[in-house]
Amino acid sequence: MLYLCATPIGNLEDMTFRAIRILKEVNLIAAEDTRRTRKLLTHFEIHTPLIRFDENCKATVAEKILERLKTGESVAVVSDAGLPAISDPGADLVRLAIDAGINVCPIPGANAALSALICSGLDTTKFLFAGFAPKKNKNRREFLQKLSTVEETIIFYEAPHRLKEFLEELLEVFGDRQIVLARELTKVHEEFLRGTISELIKNLDEPRGEFVVLVEGNKFVAPQPEENLLDFYNKLLEQGLDKKSAMRETAKKFNVSRREIYSKVIAT
Ligand code: SAM
Repeated sequence: MLYLCATPIGNLEDMTFRAIRILKEVNLIAAEDTRRTRKLLTHFEIHTPLIRFDENCKATVAEKILERLKTGESVAVVSDAGLPAISDPGADLVRLAIDAGINVCPIPGANAALSALICSGLDTTKFLFAGFAPKKNKNRREFLQKLSTVEETIIFYEAPHRLKEFLEELLEVFGDRQIVLARELTKVHEEFLRGTISELIKNLDEPRGEFVVLVEGNKFVAPQPEENLLDFYNKLLEQGLDKKSAMRETAKKFNVSRREIYSKVIAT
């Protein structure tokens, strides 16, 4: 069994009973930063052997881990904080394990994105986790432009030294929307800063600590011209979708009824 095991994002009390038991029972713990994880393990009196598993060594270490899993041993993956495989190493190993017929098991726990979302006050019914924006200017701009029409709440991770620049770019691409900065979650200086992007840029001196940035979805998606709706519908048909599914997808995309699309299709 390959376990994907959550660890606290600040407050050690967020370690679960199950995580402690699993980390004690497995044959090996694959950790993003062994020094950091060793401190956590010492705190909970866990003495399981550790192996480094980070972005730089993941290809070679993944092979070793797979070999051990194939012999029937169990391994737990942990990252520095929160859920492995969420903006952290682990996802590739899960894919390899699945391909090799090995079972994967989540050990849930703390996660910065969802902890921030539930206290944000923004719409939680539908949301999009966008993780870290690319560092290169051109890629970042394209990344944000693609997200600018998303109607759901968007969740970003960002490092404190890039936060102001990120918010300024967000303002340019998204317009002055409502955002929430969730800072130092579960830690002593936890706080939620709410307001428009421009207000928060003005009030943010030197951002310190860890931040989750949550942005209200686009509430003003411009109505699309009729041709676009039909183009979209026809493109789906060309891609092999049947008429019913193409209508359903088009209706969803343009927020109109299927009957409306039907009458437009008939009219052409
Ligand atoms: N795997 C982690 C998870 O499940 O949340 C995320 C790891 S990612 C490398 C680190 C980023 O998560 C930080 O830059 C920050 O954006 C966010 N983060 C992690 N811990 C946080 C905390 N205590 N408060 C606010 N944001 C946090």
